[in-house]
Amino acid sequence: MNIYDDIAYVKGVGPKMAEKLNKCGIYSILDLLLYFPRDYDIIKVGSNLETFNENDKVILECRVKSIKPDIRTKTNKIISTVIFQSDEDIVRGQWFNQPYAKNSFRINETYIITGKINKFNKEYKISNPKILKNITNDTNKILAKYSLKDNLSNNFLNKIISEVLAHVKIIENLPRHIIDKYKFMSLDDALKNIHNPKNRSDLDEARRRLKFQELFTYSMKILMLKNSNTNSTGIPFKISPELKELKAKLPFELTDAQNRVIREILIDEKKPIVMNRLVQGDVGSGKTIVSLITLFNIIKNGYQGALMAPTEILAKQHYLEAVKLFDEFDIKVGLLTGSITAKNKKILKENVKDGEIDLLIGTHAIIEDDVEFKKLGMIVTDEQHRFGVNQRNKLSSKGNNVDVLVMSATPIPRTLTLYMYGDLEVSIIDKLPPGRQKIDTYYLDKKEKNRAYNFALKQIEEGRQIYIVCPLVEENEDLKLSSVENLYNEIKKDYFKNIEVAILHGKMPNKEKNDIMEEFKKGNIKVLISTTVIEVGVNVPNASVMIIENAERFGLSQLHQLRGRVGRGKYKSYCILLPEIKSETTKKRMETMKNSNDGFFIAEEDLRIRGGGEVFGYKQSGENGLLLADLVEDFKIFSFANREAKEIMNNNSEESLRIKNEIAEKLEKSSKYICFN
Ligand code: ADP
Ligand code: MG
Repeated sequence: MNIYDDIAYVKGVGPKMAEKLNKCGIYSILDLLLYFPRDYDIIKVGSNLETFNENDKVILECRVKSIKPDIRTKTNKIISTVIFQSDEDIVRGQWFNQPYAKNSFRINETYIITGKINKFNKEYKISNPKILKNITNDTNKILAKYSLKDNLSNNFLNKIISEVLAHVKIIENLPRHIIDKYKFMSLDDALKNIHNPKNRSDLDEARRRLKFQELFTYSMKILMLKNSNTNSTGIPFKISPELKELKAKLPFELTDAQNRVIREILIDEKKPIVMNRLVQGDVGSGKTIVSLITLFNIIKNGYQGALMAPTEILAKQHYLEAVKLFDEFDIKVGLLTGSITAKNKKILKENVKDGEIDLLIGTHAIIEDDVEFKKLGMIVTDEQHRFGVNQRNKLSSKGNNVDVLVMSATPIPRTLTLYMYGDLEVSIIDKLPPGRQKIDTYYLDKKEKNRAYNFALKQIEEGRQIYIVCPLVEENEDLKLSSVENLYNEIKKDYFKNIEVAILHGKMPNKEKNDIMEEFKKGNIKVLISTTVIEVGVNVPNASVMIIENAERFGLSQLHQLRGRVGRGKYKSYCILLPEIKSETTKKRMETMKNSNDGFFIAEEDLRIRGGGEVFGYKQSGENGLLLADLVEDFKIFSFANREAKEIMNNNSEESLRIKNEIAEKLEKSSKYICFN
């Protein structure tokens, strides 16, 4: 059995199953092995609860001690409670707005229940527990749960993965000295344990090993790119005399930081070497104008430019700014997004191809294969903070030797910048334009949310507008996050009866999103409730309050970004965080937000407070091609992986050469960073 063999060769996989697996992106045996579980169920029947961690999903055998009367909260939620006894421990089972759930229980009867466990004031609590009817006699303590499509079952995936793991021999590919130094388990064991963990600590070890593997390869790729970047010939642009005129026409004076960064970029443009530069700057530091000025220069050299934004809303905003700025300079700007009609798209693409358009602004659509430029000189991507090294690579392959500028509004700690963007030169806009006000930030426990909403109401009465952000609803209902819709109903009823409130979320059709945003900009919508789609770059100067529900669920840098949506005009602005404060860590993190407005400082603090601790949460990273590791969360592993990768790149021992060749070869074949055999 070879890992590049088609999945159909695996025993137990018929043509029908193969088709289903294909739909999950699983074609080869390698794909199957890299289809890591989305989450795990920790199975433990009625025993010592001390061994569980917060939010572990448990299965408990327990006896009903008492059933409490329902409670109605101020916000009209019904809380039902059943008190269970599990061995020595008392466990409080609670349901929200499911008053019938408790009817399934009888006092003194024993049940097997499942749910996520939490400890709160020395008491164990399971929210929305469910009764398990028939518990299997599984010897496994931890069961992998995969993302399932098309009636695939966990059992089936488990079976075929075990089948494969029993038959393929995974060859170790890290040098012995690295394995010894970090006390890693073998690659073979790691793969076995991530799919079929023996116990919790083996699972943690497997994840540590595989994350290292991934970040090591990622680092190698960055270092290889850096090597090829520094040598590839680029277009030597001249400095256009019209730059002075353009600068004179700006409605404001550029800050020193902006001028310095523009200078750094222009020097890159002049050099006969391809530019690969990252511009980092806090929200509102004025990155757009920096990119437009430097794009202007290459356009005046007779080349085309491209500016890519992550959302349509932002693309349009940039487009309008560019049109205004270049008004008198004979530059044609085009806007390409998903919502333009097919006919207009076709015309636009033709105009790009024949060089009619000088600057193309848009979403990801602008780097798709069917967009051809006549003479592309430079690509800028805006706000792509987790834009992976693979996508960066794709950008530069768009034209011949084009200059690439990546802009990020997510300040990250300096050390992390080196690991994440080691293939790029870095410029930092470290000062905000003058006259910006500090955004007053407060945090209240969720229970006091009515204070926040009453305050918002007052601001609306004074003519301002409000953003409310709540985290995405996850599949996992146990987390009982406030979903956008629930929140809408709740606040509409309780606070904003006669006020225009709208919802914005990622799953909406683009057209609808744009319309709502447009109405909000015009001031016809007063309150905008959204998931984090507004995170990036949106500019509504009249908005003065940002309320963030379940603030504990966001990274600090993300909170900082969100906060940057207000305070964009002349009005005093506020950010109110509504976390569920369960731990000291949450409190510390909220304190940091309250006390600082400096994105770089906040990012450092975030890493320090969290300590890069292992999080037993399993989000699908995806976007940057990483399956397990997260560039920020796993920064400690990243730093070790980076160090070892550098060491190997810089020496030519037989083993280093083998690894370099092997990785280069594997990266050609697969876009994933965990590679073997
Ligand atoms: P970001 O870096 O977050 O992308 P923007 O480029 O959107 O920031 O700029 C935020 C706002 O600040 C815009 O309205 C822009 O016109 C304005 N701006 C940019 N540079 C300056 C400056 N030097 N002085 C005053 N206002 C500026
Ligand atoms: Mg921006």
